[in-house]
Amino acid sequence: MTTTPTFPAGSVLGYPRIGPRRELKKAIEAFWAGRSSADEVEAVAADLRRRTRTRLAELGLRTDVPAIPSAFSFYDHVLDAAAVLGAIPSRFADLLDADGRLDLAGYSTVARGRGDDLPLEMTKWFDSNYHYLVPEIGPDTEFRYASDRPVREFAEALAEGVLTRPVIVGPVTFLALAKAAEGSPDDFAPIDRLADVLPVYAALLRDLAAAGATWVQLDEPALVSDSVEVPVERLLASVTEAYGALTAVEGRPALFVAAPYGDLRDALGVLAATDVEAIGVDLVRGPAPTQAVAGLESKTLVAGVIDGHNIWRADLDAKLQVLEQLENLGAGAVTVGTSTSLFHVPHDVQDEPTLDPTLKSWLAFADQKVVEVVTLAEGLTEGREAIHEQLLAASDAVASRKTAPGVVRPEVRERVAALGEDAFNRGDFEGRKAAQAARFDLPPLPTTTIGSFPQTPEIRKARAAFGKGELTAEQYEDEMKAEIRRVVELQEKIGLDVLVHGEPERNDMVQYFAENLDGFAVTQNGWVQSYGSRCTRPSILWGDVSRPAPITVAWTSYTQSLTEKPVKGMLTGPVTILAWSFVRDDQPLGDTANQVGLALRDEIADLEAAGIGIIQVDEPALRELLPLRAEDHAAYLDWSVRSFRLSTAGVREDTQIHTHLCYSEFGQIMGAIDGLDADVTSIEAARSKMEILGDIAAAGYPRAVGPGVYDIHSPRVPSEGEVEELLTEAVKAIALDQLWVNPDCGLKTRRYEEVTPSLEHILQATRAVRATL
Ligand code: GLN
Ligand code: ZN
Repeated sequence: MTTTPTFPAGSVLGYPRIGPRRELKKAIEAFWAGRSSADEVEAVAADLRRRTRTRLAELGLRTDVPAIPSAFSFYDHVLDAAAVLGAIPSRFADLLDADGRLDLAGYSTVARGRGDDLPLEMTKWFDSNYHYLVPEIGPDTEFRYASDRPVREFAEALAEGVLTRPVIVGPVTFLALAKAAEGSPDDFAPIDRLADVLPVYAALLRDLAAAGATWVQLDEPALVSDSVEVPVERLLASVTEAYGALTAVEGRPALFVAAPYGDLRDALGVLAATDVEAIGVDLVRGPAPTQAVAGLESKTLVAGVIDGHNIWRADLDAKLQVLEQLENLGAGAVTVGTSTSLFHVPHDVQDEPTLDPTLKSWLAFADQKVVEVVTLAEGLTEGREAIHEQLLAASDAVASRKTAPGVVRPEVRERVAALGEDAFNRGDFEGRKAAQAARFDLPPLPTTTIGSFPQTPEIRKARAAFGKGELTAEQYEDEMKAEIRRVVELQEKIGLDVLVHGEPERNDMVQYFAENLDGFAVTQNGWVQSYGSRCTRPSILWGDVSRPAPITVAWTSYTQSLTEKPVKGMLTGPVTILAWSFVRDDQPLGDTANQVGLALRDEIADLEAAGIGIIQVDEPALRELLPLRAEDHAAYLDWSVRSFRLSTAGVREDTQIHTHLCYSEFGQIMGAIDGLDADVTSIEAARSKMEILGDIAAAGYPRAVGPGVYDIHSPRVPSEGEVEELLTEAVKAIALDQLWVNPDCGLKTRRYEEVTPSLEHILQATRAVRATL
């Protein structure tokens, strides 16, 4: 490049793409269901992109320089990069046209699977609750420039007078997140193919430049994480290779490499030594660089000072100070950005009619964050006087939040502070085990479920009607009780040993508790994408947490009154409640977790007092919050495990505590699972064929485990023989008195047509294996 085109003084790394009313979700689901055509979905998507551009321009992002990202996706941005590269697994080869292109139906099939062709695996995107599709790359994967969708979307905007900045996952991150295709040699890693993907990226860059793009954003979050498969030296060498090659491309646009989710560390210097024109750093998660970095003098530093991952209004004065200090660092230019894409937060806090106005004044959703970026950019270029009013308003909001009633409650703080070590410790396991065996007369291989039963259309309808005031509380309760009776009867008929109430009254395993605890608020339109068309509405944890009244006790006692069998009480654990909410940023997470732990401890005490002997505290998100940097793991595991123990350690010896964890990659947190000290831990294991049990036995883990024998993520009904085989394996792998039998996870997303026969087969298989003992 001879002269670098202007980079906007304020810009965002990305914006929600699902639509303020989940328009994209509705459109694409209608397409999947055969109710609309691809053209109709494309029209909805184009309209959504247009409205997004108009909105962002209204909020103050410039349209003559590329402040507005072009970062739309029908399903997932990693799959989009795979589509550009033509890197689609061979089982889907028939979906590609002669040029290697996928149409919308084919793209959807790769994301969702068909028959025996499994979709791309889905996994968590860094430390967020977004899930991406994992590319499968082998030594023979053929790369070619297969999809010019990014170019078409860029051109579409330009034709309407908006110069956007196309965004695509960068080559290093794409390969670092990919997994080796089945059949690859053991010593193969996708990053081995770096040199082969670069020509495709080069072709795309040339094409974008020809269409008029002045800047392109390449996202490289892999550079901030120790959790990717590629060792750090290799990662850094890949950066040098990739950006050496891409900056040498003739006729390319200027390159902006963004590194959201954490601290670049050594990668900053490595990137600065290449010829890319701009580098984006996450200054919410990572510290601001304080020393000059060689190479930065010729680059734009895009300072991600506005938090893309949480919903609090920024202290603009403090942010402006950070920016002013960065200006002394000697970078070619400093501009204002977000720490991550804004797609982790909802669209617009003004679109929340039921939120308390004071709470609202402390919040910034995506649209408010755009304004914060624009304001800071103005302050940085025009001087702080230019934004005097806005600085004051932001400081007022920060001050109001500090002193508002409910944010800091001395009685909650004093209770946490007064806790002694014994509040975190139960008695020795052998004693508990004997007391529980005497109390519950359970057969070998006791059977149970993870908690929820199918959420039927009738249940959803009743909840909606109750929400709208069309059902009274009493009518709603009657309907839920009728559902509980059905679920109990079904479990008794099938012959399960430990029963559940089925969780019909819960809209969501976190929101339900958030609605019933002090310190939380829930939104009406605050949807964020979890994966594909699936969205969640995280609650907002804004103040000190306590439990004003029992939450689950009446439901659980009612259920116990219906049966002689033990009923298991069901709670969501403190770490999961935090992970799936927007959490306060004004105190350490561990302190917040202890407050939630204490509220749950009160609930458990009441369940126990009501005669409930088995209580499960779910922690499916324990793995998800694991920090990206290895040296932060120990501190995280310490506070997370302690908060769980705080919630559960108050019970009697003969009360049995269960926990449930959804995933099967245990290696990294085996110690933490041991630390939870639950009497019974259920885990996902059906897909991995019980592999995990070998590790558990080898580690000398003493307590009981319930490896899932039924993969509930698929509509498939496992046969009796299949379950029997899994159980036979399990009995060989681990001591008989350590083994429980259960599905992989809750049944709420499945239908009774699948659940009933599956549970019947599980019981038949269990009886068959018991007979051989
Ligand atoms: N008890 C919850 C259920 O069964 C657990 C869900 C989960 O693990 N995500 O639905
Ligand atoms: Zn689960």
